[in-house]
Amino acid sequence: MSEIPLSRPDITDAEIDAVTQVLRSGRLSIGPQQERFERLVAGRCGRREGVAVSSGTAGLHLVLEALGVGPGDEVVTTPFSFIASANCILMVGATPKFVDICPQSLNMDPAQLEAAITPQTKAIIAVEVFGQPQHMDTVEAVARKHEIPLIEDACEGLGGRLGGRPVGGFGRASVFGFYPNKQITTGEGGMIVTDDDRLADLCRSLRNQGRSTPADGGMPGQHNSGGTATGAWLDHPRLGYNYRLSEIASALGVVQMERLDDLLAARRRVADRYTQLLLDQTDLVLPAAPRGDEAGMSWFVYVVRLGTQYDRAARDRVIAGMRRHEIGAANYFPCIHLQPFYRERFGCAPGDYPIAESISDRTLALPFHNHLTAEQADLVCQTLHVMLQREQMLLEE
Ligand SMILES: *Cc1c(COP(=O)(O)O)cnc(C)c1O
Repeated sequence: MSEIPLSRPDITDAEIDAVTQVLRSGRLSIGPQQERFERLVAGRCGRREGVAVSSGTAGLHLVLEALGVGPGDEVVTTPFSFIASANCILMVGATPKFVDICPQSLNMDPAQLEAAITPQTKAIIAVEVFGQPQHMDTVEAVARKHEIPLIEDACEGLGGRLGGRPVGGFGRASVFGFYPNKQITTGEGGMIVTDDDRLADLCRSLRNQGRSTPADGGMPGQHNSGGTATGAWLDHPRLGYNYRLSEIASALGVVQMERLDDLLAARRRVADRYTQLLLDQTDLVLPAAPRGDEAGMSWFVYVVRLGTQYDRAARDRVIAGMRRHEIGAANYFPCIHLQPFYRERFGCAPGDYPIAESISDRTLALPFHNHLTAEQADLVCQTLHVMLQREQMLLEE
């Protein structure tokens, strides 16, 4: 029996050719591929500016820094997400303020958002968790009312839509990540998109060692392929990072963006197949997304959760059982506030965000990628069924 991985990138000869061309060109960083990639992602989101970076985490870090968020400031966010959406707050020395989640969308509950806002709140980071865009518009309205910048962590939502608007078009700036399990990949990589030219310029400077940008009154420095620096290349008006994205990665991203609609359609077919196969499984809660094209959901992962009669130990046994059958399943996501260093630094404890905790104890992600065959999906669901039957027997004992 061969393994069914949790995720797998979708790479064709077109990506391989594009990368090979860059390698032959001799220009491996800061070049035309990065600009093309930036235009494609920004265009897809209806944004004026795109700033390619080395990861989604780097993008979130830069946006917070460019907004001037720092020690003494608070940033409101969700406890139910990949840890980077909160870690970026710690990177700039600010304090995360978590808001419990809505049990349907699994996103930050907009009804509880206002209670978390204080005079120290300098930003809100909202996530489309698992690619579900629901509530981003409501969160945006609250942010606007309080004149607090909203950062859309769109790392799981590329290609999604909400109320006719693209994911990546909400708030002051949005950030994507292109790790290999995302809707598109550049191996490692990320992108900031925004309509704020000054913010984009500052992010471009910060990703490039704090070098001058046109906004600093200087020309962007050039580093020619012979390895010598010219112009303002050695002017650094501010502290910056090396968060650049290579031409190799950008070329990969360009082809993936050109294929985005096909990639999304393939993911949707896999999700629809799972939903079809699991519909009768009454002890499971399926993703809340409606089926079909209009739903606005961009499928990042397929996450189911065990009914409330089960506990975390039951969920962990189901995951372990699936893994014994070489089926990649994972506990997406453990609550961020319960990670050891959040408990130590911020005094977070079990019971702080009861909905997120109760849901996080019972969720599991199934193998989800474009190459998953109908037979494999069948096998995943049959195995899950057997594991759930065992848990049911344990309950009845
Ligand atoms: C993947 C992800 C990130 C970080 O992206 P990287 O490119 O892995 O740094 C941030 N936030 C969320 C919600 C993610 O899923």
